[in-house]
Amino acid sequence: MSTWLLERARTLALAGSPSRRTLVIDFDGVVHDQNDGWRGGEVYGPPIPGAVQELQRRSAGGWSLAIVTARHHDLHDDVARWVEKHTALPTVVCAQRHAYWHGPEILVTNVKPGAVAYVDDNAVRFTLAAGGWTTALAGLPYSPDEVLALGGPA
Ligand SMILES: [Mg+2]
Repeated sequence: MSTWLLERARTLALAGSPSRRTLVIDFDGVVHDQNDGWRGGEVYGPPIPGAVQELQRRSAGGWSLAIVTARHHDLHDDVARWVEKHTALPTVVCAQRHAYWHGPEILVTNVKPGAVAYVDDNAVRFTLAAGGWTTALAGLPYSPDEVLALGGPA
């Protein structure tokens, strides 16, 4: 476990935080290998190597797990079916806001609950100690002003 993650877990546990046993995990690119692109939102890919075992192990160990996806809520049932098929773990789909998630089911949602950690293939770790906003987005391939040149505002 990384130092920051261990420290965060200890801090949450000592504070009795409801987040202390919850992991939030992104779906596409972390659990589900979307190896042929978006395909209109179809959930078609194989599991990312190690993902099924990790979910099963964490669930058996008493962790509460939430899969948070940017997919539209209409696609969450497909995500849940895929997760159940590959992990044999129960899921619950919920569009309600969960500040926290505790339960034996894997929550499928697009609302981020509190957690020890967020596992996401597109995340940027932000820390003041590492430079905060001065360095957080330094790895992006274009400057804040150049994004308009990529096609204009959305
Ligand atoms: Mg992703």
